[in-house]
Amino acid sequence: MEPLYLFNTLTRRKEKFKPLKDKIVTMYNCGPTVYERPHIGNLRAYIFADTLRRTLEYNGYKVKQIINITDVGHLTSDADTGEDKIEKSAREKRKTAWEIARYFEKIFKEDIKKLNIKTPFKFPRATQHIKEMIELIKILEKKGYTYKISDGIYFDTSKFKNYGILAQIKRKKLLAGARVEINPEKRNPYDFALWKFSPKDVKRQMEWRSPWGIGFPGWHIECSAMSMKYLGKTIDIHTGGIDHIDIHHTNEIAQSEAATGKKFVNYWLHVNFLKVEGEKMAKSLGNIITLEDIEKKGFQPLAFRYLVLTSHYRSEMNFTWQAMESAQNAYNLLLETISSFNLSINLYKSLFGDKRVSALGSSDLVLHNSAFKEILNIVNYDLDTPRLIAKLWEILKSDEDLKFKKIFVLEADKILGLGFKEFLAKQKLPAEIKKKVLLRERLRKEGKWQEADKIREEVLEAGYKIEDTKQGSIIKKVVVKN
Ligand code: AMP
Ligand code: ZN
Repeated sequence: MEPLYLFNTLTRRKEKFKPLKDKIVTMYNCGPTVYERPHIGNLRAYIFADTLRRTLEYNGYKVKQIINITDVGHLTSDADTGEDKIEKSAREKRKTAWEIARYFEKIFKEDIKKLNIKTPFKFPRATQHIKEMIELIKILEKKGYTYKISDGIYFDTSKFKNYGILAQIKRKKLLAGARVEINPEKRNPYDFALWKFSPKDVKRQMEWRSPWGIGFPGWHIECSAMSMKYLGKTIDIHTGGIDHIDIHHTNEIAQSEAATGKKFVNYWLHVNFLKVEGEKMAKSLGNIITLEDIEKKGFQPLAFRYLVLTSHYRSEMNFTWQAMESAQNAYNLLLETISSFNLSINLYKSLFGDKRVSALGSSDLVLHNSAFKEILNIVNYDLDTPRLIAKLWEILKSDEDLKFKKIFVLEADKILGLGFKEFLAKQKLPAEIKKKVLLRERLRKEGKWQEADKIREEVLEAGYKIEDTKQGSIIKKVVVKN
């Protein structure tokens, strides 16, 4: 078995992956804040998480995966100030906070389905785990990690020895107050809210009773509580965007490890940003793009997935509409090429009988093993999807026999998730087209080129291309946008 190497943010190194249990991997992916449609940067984060899951499965592991739904507590500022994003969006859109949260959760789930992202074990909502969060804060309180100020209960980061280990924040720098102290009541600049009190002047829609007063959870505590509840005190993998390293994940580690005394996560994996035309995607810049925008311009979600997979997850990805168009064209070309497998194999059967088809190459098992090994060799090196895609093209353009190409495509698709299998299953040569193709073969043998060409035209009009190769005629389905 090929070892699997993953880049662990904790050590800033590619490490050989070894799960806690033999065959099961526990994985938590920080989920969306459901106050708006996810933008394509957010979606990149889940395409990455899905690629990771598929790679683990390809390596023979079962993956117990959680994607949480942040439906409360994520404030407009990471420094525990500002408004709750969901309450704010509700006010702007004249809906209740609950309506907003459920609506955008639904959109998120639809989007990831369109992107062929596999459904996780669970999508737990923060609002349904308030009890678990309160219990966790109570433990931290008992252990002396918390203190109360006028707007909430805070975690005292000076009490947690390893604070900042993920972000590689050095203690000295930390004490010197490298960051602006926003709330003067906080004991240390990096301290963060575990529980926030409802403001006195505004009535919040989402609020709960707690031993400390009516309010709502701080943003970070939900992930610790839900990760522990569904996956255990220590888990194998936790993911998110690189923006989560310094604050969200740093704080998750502090509060979880302070509470349990155990390591929280063994492997931290972070996906780099998707930028738009070279700029960070931000509402204030007005450059948010959603999957809906992509579809409205006539592009397919899976072509967007293809585009995402052509950059390595740890590289910045620059989205441009031109790149999107090239990705759609490349994706169409892939489908067209792949369509020939079933269509042509079908044709060969008619031309030469089943014997010739199986004589085209080695046995399925050998071909399968060779494809499997080649793919593992690529993806097990920190999920190198750009290389896998390059390899896919190389093989499709090569002189390998159709059978191997087909096997390779179907195997690679287990990682890439580009819908090749489903597409291929639909490719059947209609009887009247097959008749025409066979007739054309005969005409060509008889040297009746003009008549043969005419038939080729007719077949093209019916949506199929005939290409003459050394191995014989190949039939492809003409794939146009959508
Ligand atoms: P949010 O909905 O803001 O909680 O973010 C959901 C996920 O998307 C988190 O893992 C973020 O780190 C990630 N994310 C946010 N913006 C981007 C971006 N431009 N590119 C890649 N990932 C992002
Ligand atoms: Zn989280």
